Amino acid sequence: MSTDPSSRLRHLPSTDLLLESTVVKELIEKYPRAIVVGSIRKVLDGVRRELLAGGGPDPDRISSPETYVESIAGEVARYMRPSLRRVVNATGIVIHTNLGRAPIAPEAFDHARMIAERYSNLEYDLEDGKRGSRHDHVSRLLCHLTGAEMALAVNNCAAALLTTLHAVARGREVIVSRGELIEIGGSFRLPEIMEASGAKLVEVGTTNRTHLDDYRRALKPETGAILKVHLSNFRQEGFTAKVDTGELAEVAREAGIPLLYDLGSGAFLPVGEGGEPPVASELRAGPDVIMMSGDKLLGSVQAGLIVGRRETVEKIRSCPVLRAVRPGKVTIALLEATLLRYLDEPRAREQIPVLRLISRPFRDIREDADALRDQLLARDGLQVDIEITEGESEAGGGAIGQPPMATILLGLVFDGIRPEDIARRLRMQDPPVIVRVRNDKVWIDPRTIFADELGLVADAIAEAAQAARS
Ligand SMILES: *Cc1c(COP(=O)(O)O)cnc(C)c1O
Repeated sequence: MSTDPSSRLRHLPSTDLLLESTVVKELIEKYPRAIVVGSIRKVLDGVRRELLAGGGPDPDRISSPETYVESIAGEVARYMRPSLRRVVNATGIVIHTNLGRAPIAPEAFDHARMIAERYSNLEYDLEDGKRGSRHDHVSRLLCHLTGAEMALAVNNCAAALLTTLHAVARGREVIVSRGELIEIGGSFRLPEIMEASGAKLVEVGTTNRTHLDDYRRALKPETGAILKVHLSNFRQEGFTAKVDTGELAEVAREAGIPLLYDLGSGAFLPVGEGGEPPVASELRAGPDVIMMSGDKLLGSVQAGLIVGRRETVEKIRSCPVLRAVRPGKVTIALLEATLLRYLDEPRAREQIPVLRLISRPFRDIREDADALRDQLLARDGLQVDIEITEGESEAGGGAIGQPPMATILLGLVFDGIRPEDIARRLRMQDPPVIVRVRNDKVWIDPRTIFADELGLVADAIAEAAQAARS
């Protein structure tokens, strides 16, 4: 056989020949034919490029279909795998927006699954046999738990804010402190949301200090509302001043306009010492409506919650934009199932994963750290230095008011392998394991690793190290 790369190409098997091989025939029985054919082409294209670059399979193997079937099967499997996958969160950040925020209690799904699989009274009043409202299912519980007169759920907190501003202050001015013109990430910037809502932003105060008088002086007949925004992802320290919610509510009331409060995370129970104040106490301070996320500290599904005074919430409820951001039945079912758990505080703390993970006892985490270390040390051939040290985990999810939580970290050093390389290979495992890299070490925080995932993590680390070495 010639060693000239371009003439070697001629010895490659054809797609038709590969389709005749036993392994490929089995693939076609299990998977769509078009995907298998596409995978064959992709593998052959790859081999062609390798050959032209002077690499590729040994000359005596080029023409054999056996040389390629494994790659083809791998390609088909990768294509057929869902893109949205479960991962193991070893970062210790409990509400990690990139990793899907709140893990949801399995019990909530028993109910949601039935609702999703069968018909439901989503918009049907069972008493009257007439059309009902999907908003009623969660509003009674939201009112009960926050002390609000009326409540609504939409798709997320951004939608809650957009809809509220549109319903309450479209074509009018909304006063916001310059210290609260935030960006949350993922293109949520307050001035842009405001513009999209049709309300006109009026900035008052300075970046570090805003006083009650700044708000008062900005009031005009065109003012539609005052907006207060929770500083979710940064802290202001030093020479700062902000206005108390109660005083701001007073100013709004005197002016006959509502005070809107974008609370962001929104805790329904006090979580830890000195954590974010619960929504109920924030609402008692006097804002007309509070908006928050369903999948941050509440620990439920992605949703935006709007709670507050009847008059204002009623306006939002009858706004046409609401129709565009209304939640689906699965969201409502999961949300209601979570809220029902909150009626019983100890049960909520035990069953809602976000609450459980944030308040995980230190000795629990230490036990998991020790167990993981022992599993790693027991692996044959795994060369790793393990440091066990105290550290901090974060609540995440814009709950910056939550103090960091003491945790135990495993710091791993692999002889001759860069930590970034291990981190990348851990992301390629099934399930992928997400870790942090700092100071030339791979860091594992067991806080966010579920009990049944410790073995998976040990396996993944052993495999990642082996793959990096070979
Ligand atoms: C997180 C956050 C939002 C956005 O919430 P989503 O539910 O992701 O839309 C809005 N405002 C504040 C203050 C936040 O912290």
